[in-house]
Amino acid sequence: MIKANYPVQKFSEIQTPFYYYDLQVLRSTLKEINLQANKSDFHVHYAMKANVNPSVLNVIKDAGLGADCVSGGEVEAAITAGILPSKVVFAGVGKADWEINLGLDHDIFCFNVESIPELEVINELAAAKGKVAKVALRINPNVSAHTHHYITTGLNENKFGINMSDLNQVIDLFPSMPNVKLIGIHFHIGSQITDMTSFQDLCVKANELQELFVSRNIILDHINVGGGLGINYEHPNHFPIPDFEAYFKIFRDHLVLQPNQTLHFELGRAVVAQCGSLISRVLYVKQGTSKKFAILDAGFTDLIRPALYQAYHRIENLSSELPLVEYDVVGPICESSDTFIKEYEMNETKRGDIIALRSAGAYGEIMASQYNLRKLPKAYTSDELQNR
Ligand SMILES: *Cc1c(COP(=O)(O)O)cnc(C)c1O
Repeated sequence: MIKANYPVQKFSEIQTPFYYYDLQVLRSTLKEINLQANKSDFHVHYAMKANVNPSVLNVIKDAGLGADCVSGGEVEAAITAGILPSKVVFAGVGKADWEINLGLDHDIFCFNVESIPELEVINELAAAKGKVAKVALRINPNVSAHTHHYITTGLNENKFGINMSDLNQVIDLFPSMPNVKLIGIHFHIGSQITDMTSFQDLCVKANELQELFVSRNIILDHINVGGGLGINYEHPNHFPIPDFEAYFKIFRDHLVLQPNQTLHFELGRAVVAQCGSLISRVLYVKQGTSKKFAILDAGFTDLIRPALYQAYHRIENLSSELPLVEYDVVGPICESSDTFIKEYEMNETKRGDIIALRSAGAYGEIMASQYNLRKLPKAYTSDELQNR
């Protein structure tokens, strides 16, 4: 079994479970993003909700990415990390007044607005401050992301965004709202999208929409196509960096921009997933009636994706080269859903072995909870461990 090249000796000296971030992988990923995006002057905003570990965020900030935020907390975290407010976009179906005010106070680049009532509130709050809020309309393009239904967000029957059929009505409202300025349109069709035709479909829809705006003599400053690019959870060692070249090329080839219009992206998972692993120890190997259980000291409080989305994470036993044996790999939490994977082959294991759950850099540490009064997982970076 091919395994990640991890400092196992150093891992063995640290209390598990913990997150490990390989910053070399992260830096290489960001370098590739910048290389491919800069071919066309595309603007990439990092989707903060994937991971806000300070070391990870610092590397992303240094690479020059902007931020895509979905809460006031994320807006604060982005700005605290040193990301310029002029590169911050703020999305979300339920922005509270204090969150909108925070964005206004920082003069963020854009509010991605998801409903008419929200637009009215932003207009009022901006008026109270004597400001004009820049907004983009999040439009529901009714494009299927061909992904898990929990992470499909661009279909009509979805709480996100404004339906295409309501668009004319929304545009009609702007002349009566002097404290909001329409500067763009925004889409986000889902997550972990590996079928590139979904993005191609999105381009077609975006072009159609542009025609509507042009026919009404509205020239938008920018188009924001959101995020959603998937990663390879099966083979993180072979495909540590997503195919950003193919991804950006789809938009370059299929999306028609107006003169001086800029194109924006909001990538989360594709930026950070492969640089992170959850490192755990085997507490017990239990023989069931027909199967073996490898019971880890990590559970869904540390990494909830398998329990929440039936997500797959590759698991490597970093301490063993013994022949492969089939296990149900489970956590210690008092819920049956606390199972990382069933009937999974890994090198024969025993108590104390160090286990890596791979591709856990996105929607991992940030979703940790203290259920069962467990401790939140700590996190270490490759840079830190090198100097330890
Ligand atoms: C979650 C989210 C993203 C990022 O999605 P990824 O699949 O992690 O790339 C981008 N934009 C919005 C509005 C989001 O909610």
